[in-house]
Amino acid sequence: MTPAAAPLAELLRALAPPLEYLAADDFRRLDQTRLPLPALAERVARARASGPPGAAVPLAELERILGALRVGPAREQEELLRRAHALLPALREVAAAPAAWTEYRPSAAPVGTALAALAGPARAVRGVGPQRAADLARFRLETVEDLLYHLPFRYEDRRALRPLAALHVGEEATAVGEVARVHETRGGRRGRRILEVVLRDGDGLLLLVWFHQIPYFSRRLREGQRLVVHGRVEPPLGGGPRRIIHPEMEILGADEDPAALPRIVPVYGKPTAMHPGAMRRIVQAAVEEFADRVPSALPPAVAARQHVIDLGRALRQVHAPAPEADLQALADSGSPAHRSLIFDELFFLQLGLALRRSAAGEAPGTAFPASARLVPALRQRLPFRPTRAQERAFAEIAADLAAPHPMRRLLQGDVGSGKTLVALMAALGVIEAGHQAALMAPTELLAEQHLETVRPLAGPLGVEPVLLTGAVKGKARRAALAGLADGTITLAVGTHALIQEGVTFARLGLAIVDEQHRFGVMQRAALQRRGEESVDVLVMSATPIPRTLAMTLYGDLAVSTLDELPPGRTPITTELCRESRRERVYGRVRSEVAAGHQAYIVYPLVEESEKTALRAATTMVHELAAGPLAGLRLALVHGRMKAEEKDAVMRRFKAGEHDVLVSTTVIEVGIDVPNATVIVIEHAERFGLAQLHQLRGRVGRGRARGHCSLVVPDWTGEDAYHRLRTLEQSTDGFRIAEVDLALRGPGDFLGTRQAGLPDFRVANLLRDTALLTAARDEALAWLAEDPELSLPESAAVRAVLVHRWRGRLGLARVG
Ligand code: ADP
Ligand code: MG
Repeated sequence: MTPAAAPLAELLRALAPPLEYLAADDFRRLDQTRLPLPALAERVARARASGPPGAAVPLAELERILGALRVGPAREQEELLRRAHALLPALREVAAAPAAWTEYRPSAAPVGTALAALAGPARAVRGVGPQRAADLARFRLETVEDLLYHLPFRYEDRRALRPLAALHVGEEATAVGEVARVHETRGGRRGRRILEVVLRDGDGLLLLVWFHQIPYFSRRLREGQRLVVHGRVEPPLGGGPRRIIHPEMEILGADEDPAALPRIVPVYGKPTAMHPGAMRRIVQAAVEEFADRVPSALPPAVAARQHVIDLGRALRQVHAPAPEADLQALADSGSPAHRSLIFDELFFLQLGLALRRSAAGEAPGTAFPASARLVPALRQRLPFRPTRAQERAFAEIAADLAAPHPMRRLLQGDVGSGKTLVALMAALGVIEAGHQAALMAPTELLAEQHLETVRPLAGPLGVEPVLLTGAVKGKARRAALAGLADGTITLAVGTHALIQEGVTFARLGLAIVDEQHRFGVMQRAALQRRGEESVDVLVMSATPIPRTLAMTLYGDLAVSTLDELPPGRTPITTELCRESRRERVYGRVRSEVAAGHQAYIVYPLVEESEKTALRAATTMVHELAAGPLAGLRLALVHGRMKAEEKDAVMRRFKAGEHDVLVSTTVIEVGIDVPNATVIVIEHAERFGLAQLHQLRGRVGRGRARGHCSLVVPDWTGEDAYHRLRTLEQSTDGFRIAEVDLALRGPGDFLGTRQAGLPDFRVANLLRDTALLTAARDEALAWLAEDPELSLPESAAVRAVLVHRWRGRLGLARVG
């Protein structure tokens, strides 16, 4: 019960019984009853003063009724008491409102020393010496905090240890017994070594079998030892006992009573050579000594709303569950303790991201007025109408530009969704306001492509784009540099080097960074200043990112999405094909080339690797030229070539000098050859879905229909085959990204690990979407109340935030 509800409960205890008594026979015994009116009035006053939310109206009414009863004539009594009785349900409801949340004990500030202790080396934990510490460090467990947050990946249920005779074939079981025999034999056709151990209890037997690590186990196991074993029970061979192959195992000390062991036993990931029991003891020691020092810094109101428990309690429940704990919830990371740890992690992540966002949102920037001249003129000249998605994105960008703060926005959209046009409209607005804009691509070729797209649109408006890449040399380069420095060039197109190598701009207003995950570039662009003001930054990405990832990966950017392709596109057809039917695929390549089109063939590796026998681009190009594609003009491009060589080959392909470009994935990013209509991707099973989707976006860029053939080995399993079918069925990049993310996990998704996505200690973006959203909402709500984190309740929040972000993300500077 909340403290505020206590006086109300007292009032109800005094008021309800007489009213119920009277109502029971329809107020006929009224004349025999005397209510203690002054005492009740006093209680009403106290209840009103304590102000439980929701009770104000019924209490005011009650006060009026009691007042009337004290002065009023007797014949109105019945009516008044009926009204009082009718108020009871509403008052009861308020009184029964959810109890105050007492499961979260906020840490007593200040938390600095506790945080320092947690950041201390694992050696600080009892039982961890220098050798153990080194083993743990190699396993990426370096600090006390690492150990505390090294959660069990599984739990063993030892609450019901059953006799060996009662185990069932097929179940995952835990059992205790005594080693009756240790015996090495050889078996199978090759006479492999096998270790067999017979375990015995009263009258049951269990056979433990090892095929690997035999010397290790035969050294450790002795007759007479007592073991706790866990694993899947397999049927007996011949007439022998039931078996467990490669059981998990713990040797009990002579004095250890299995019944006294913790009965839900956590199982931890560990360095290979370390005994599971040793790992468990180390973590338990860390928990005993340090769990209660982990600061629980959430604002209490947030903890109460989210029903999370404090971290000390949560860590103890996760590492040492009580025997009556819900084992299923623990195993699914869905226990209240798990939820609490996850929420806490996500709250501080979102808080940090929100602060970075608002830091940019508050920094001084230039307010660019809406374009009155150039953008309308561009619209007039366009041979098509912008899509609704383009209009929406441009409106969002224009609003950012108009604000006196620097823009930090991501424009994401599938290949061909028309991002360049949106970027150009943004650039024109800035140029019209007297500033410069820079459009940057990751390669020289892509920069040239951008120039080709932009020049025919911007040139006639009097905005002549100038190219500046490594390939621009001599006089042209000097002219470009001078023009940027004195401001006569207003639109620069180039590689990321434009920003990285410190080209001087007279009045850079907008930096547009094309193509994914170039965070370094974005950050440097963001640091560029025009006087006291930061440059506006627009990042463009053709890699659709599912919402949950976007919320973390790009948590400090606002996002605009082009979720619609311009009309009139013919969707690419995609077919999945087993290797043995490859001839059909080459047939299509030949017929498309005969019709005047071009083709790509993509391999995942450059050289034949003996181990995996991948068909590699280098050898295949010769085989193709001699065999199935004889007579076609083939070219090769791969990742080991120098950038200029690569560009030269791709340029010749673009100019139509080659029919077929055989390549590794270097063509992935953005090359635009409208005449290419076929793409063949070998060993498609080796690529992620999102990457395949990017690759196939290289075709179907012109009028003619594009085809994509995904070739997989004949032995490709059902799972992999099924996964690739997603591409046959959908051309929606966002849907594909969702499926890819769900299948592969965020770490693998397009190598986001390198892209700066934090590794989470406890949270999982796929599983914890709901908590992520809740954490984000709570973090934003807290910042709305206390934007500077300067309230007393925010002192611990701030300390923990700084600690987390320094340790985990290395990005933020708060306060
Ligand atoms: P993205 O960079 O998003 O992959 P682009 O900006 O290169 O896509 O645009 C792809 C092609 O679509 C370009 O040839 C462009 O001129 C054209 N395009 C852009 N917007 C539209 C539109 N609204 N209607 C028709 N074609 C468009
Ligand atoms: Mg593009």
